[in-house]
Amino acid sequence: MPTPFQRAAARIRIVLVGTQHPGNIGAAARALKTMGLPRLVLVDPEDYPAEEAFRRAAGADDLLAGAQVLPTLAEAVADCHFVLGCTARSRRVALEEHVPRQAAERAVEAAARGGEVALVFGRERTGLSNEELQLCHASVHIPANPEYSSLNLAAAVQVLSYELRLALLALDGAPATGDDRHPDEAPASHAHLEGFFAQLGDTLDAIDFHKGRMPDSAMRKLRRLYLRANLNEQEVRLLRGILADAQRMARLARGLPG
Ligand code: SAH
Repeated sequence: MPTPFQRAAARIRIVLVGTQHPGNIGAAARALKTMGLPRLVLVDPEDYPAEEAFRRAAGADDLLAGAQVLPTLAEAVADCHFVLGCTARSRRVALEEHVPRQAAERAVEAAARGGEVALVFGRERTGLSNEELQLCHASVHIPANPEYSSLNLAAAVQVLSYELRLALLALDGAPATGDDRHPDEAPASHAHLEGFFAQLGDTLDAIDFHKGRMPDSAMRKLRRLYLRANLNEQEVRLLRGILADAQRMARLARGLPG
C-alpha cells in the first residue's frame, strides 16, 4: 500500500525545459531522488542522453533512465491541473508569485486531491520564455540575493524538491483525502481550462468587449483571475455554458440565426 506521501509524490512531475548542460540534468535527478520524488520530465534537452548526466546522477540513474523526454512544454503539462513556473527573476509576468514554501504547499494539496502537478524549470542561459510562462498557473521565486538571484538550475530544483518533501511529509499521518471525490469536483485539467480561455477570447470578440483596444492585456488579467480561482470541472462547464449563451445572444443581435 503506498503511503499518502508516495501517492501524492507520484502525481508531481519536475519538468526541465531546454536544459543546456547534461550535468545539470543528472544533478537534478539526484536532487529528486534524495527528496523521494519519482518523476523527471525533460523538454527538448540540448544534449541528452549524455554520459555526463549519468555521472552526475550518482545513485539516481534509475530515476534518470525513467525520465520522459518530450518536444514541447505544452505536451509535458497537457494533463496537469496545476503548473508552477520557477523564475530566477521576480515579477516578470502577470502571474501570481509564490515563495517556495507556499508553492510546495499548494502543489502538494492539489496532488493530494488527485490533481496532476508540474514544477517547471527554465534554461540555464535564458530561463523560461514568456510563452512558456503563459502555460503556468503561478510562478515561484526563491527569494535570493536581489543583486544575484539566479541559482544554478539543479540547486533551484533541490530547494523546491526539499520544500515539496516537507509538505509531503505532513501528509503522512493526516487522514487520506481525495481519491474518491466525484470527478466533477476534481480540479479542472489544463486542457479544459485552455478550452475555456479560447472560448472566453471568442466571446469577448463577439460582444465587442475590446472596442479596438489590444485584447492581450485583458486576456492576461482574466487568465490570472480564473487561474487563481482553482476551478473544478463542474465550474468550468458552468462558465462555458454562460459563454455559449452570450455567443448565441451576440449572433441574434447581429441578425444571424441563434
Ligand atoms: N539566466 C536565467 C536564469 C536561469 S537559471 C534567467 O535570468 O532567467 C535556470 C532555472 O533555474 C530558471 O529558469 C529557474 O527555473 C531556476 N531558478 C534559478 N534561480 C531561481 C530562483 N531564484 N527562484 C526560482 N527559480 C530559480
